[in-house]
Amino acid sequence: MEFEPKNCWHVYKSKKHKAAMDKLAAEYVDFLSLCKTERETIDWLVRRAAFRGFENGFSQDKFLKVHKGKSVIMARKGKKPLAQGIRILGAHADTPRLDLKQRPLYEECQVSLAKTHYYGGIRKHQWFARPLALHGVVIRTDGSRVEIRIGEDPGDPVFTVADLLPHLAYKQIEQKLSEAFEAEKLNVVLGHIPLATSAEKDKSPVKLGVLNILNKRFGIIEEDLYSAEIQAVPAGPARYIGFDQGLIGGYGHDDRACTFAGFEAFLKQNRPEYTQVLIVWDKEEIGSEGSSGAKSLFLEYSLEDMIESWEPVTKLRTMFENTRAISADVHAAMDPDYQEVHEKLNASLLGHGPVFCKFTGHRGKVGANDAHAEYVGWLRSILNKAGIPWQMAETGKVDLGGGGTVAKFLAVYGMDIIDFGPGVLGMHSPFEICSKADIYASFLAYEQFFRN
Ligand code: MN
Ligand code: MN
Repeated sequence: MEFEPKNCWHVYKSKKHKAAMDKLAAEYVDFLSLCKTERETIDWLVRRAAFRGFENGFSQDKFLKVHKGKSVIMARKGKKPLAQGIRILGAHADTPRLDLKQRPLYEECQVSLAKTHYYGGIRKHQWFARPLALHGVVIRTDGSRVEIRIGEDPGDPVFTVADLLPHLAYKQIEQKLSEAFEAEKLNVVLGHIPLATSAEKDKSPVKLGVLNILNKRFGIIEEDLYSAEIQAVPAGPARYIGFDQGLIGGYGHDDRACTFAGFEAFLKQNRPEYTQVLIVWDKEEIGSEGSSGAKSLFLEYSLEDMIESWEPVTKLRTMFENTRAISADVHAAMDPDYQEVHEKLNASLLGHGPVFCKFTGHRGKVGANDAHAEYVGWLRSILNKAGIPWQMAETGKVDLGGGGTVAKFLAVYGMDIIDFGPGVLGMHSPFEICSKADIYASFLAYEQFFRN
């Protein structure tokens, strides 16, 4: 009569499950190490999908469409008419980070630096004193593109934001956390050696030194940075954590864990009953804004095209009304050191499977998509039938905080949707923690969602 969430490590004890879990985890670690920006993530997805026969256009039963290199939609035709609804899994590929400002370069105290403007909800103190890599693109006036990716290969230099020494931080440690770390001090160190041809009286010889390297290596000038998108992200690969290697630490589990698990589950399907759609957006971390975010009409326009070519008699709204969707996003798992911010009956544990979040929002569910009980009942039934562990949780204690996802932007079409994804510790930090077992269980759960 009573319910307790199941522990994946007990459920997936067999050799077969263990091997499959390890294989998936190894692929995930590679993916996480390689893809640190939305552009890199979308490129990776498109490369793999193209290899599996997904093409632009609707002439065949599998299509994909990329928008601005920052969001992608893929679909596979089902046996049932579109009028009976489709299955949509949506995730996001953007992650909190430090964006270089459009005019970033300057020099102070014999050090060349770059100004940044942080992107998404970061805890600023976590970004000081750690190796950073630079990823991004620079677009020249002739339209040509330079790809930047420095700080990942062992032979590469890294970049960093220097922190204040404790000896001189007596005043700072008395300040409120929200005031102690200023955004305008999140400046990335780029260089130290003056340009060889500079004179003692030159105002910024070190900055010139950096510009000279950028010019020699990439053929760019300072003005080109105005049309650049360069992100400072944690340098280095994702790693297993712990003696037993049961956890994975890395940058961007939120939301590349769901992007990866959702995509792998999507690729596994074949001749499905219902048409299946996978969509990966950008800009979730800043409110799903812009032409590549979930508030844009990219999904709607793409599915309009799909209907026109596959089943023109059907109205888009008829399809949407009968559609079931998952907002595949990570959840805040119960933190062993900060259990007091969670309400334990409605909190999730690492290793206990993907987490349903019926509603997000804050202060009395404001701003939430609240999934309907009927839909939760259906999802429970398919997961239970397949023996996949799941749990349900809220984002911490009531009135302590909150957040939002893409769910509400799909709910407006009348489709059923709920947030569902693995738990994460240290979300939005440069080194987030996820359970290997939860990645595996999420993949299996998304597979069931697509199939049913
Ligand atoms: Mn997220
Ligand atoms: Mn997030």
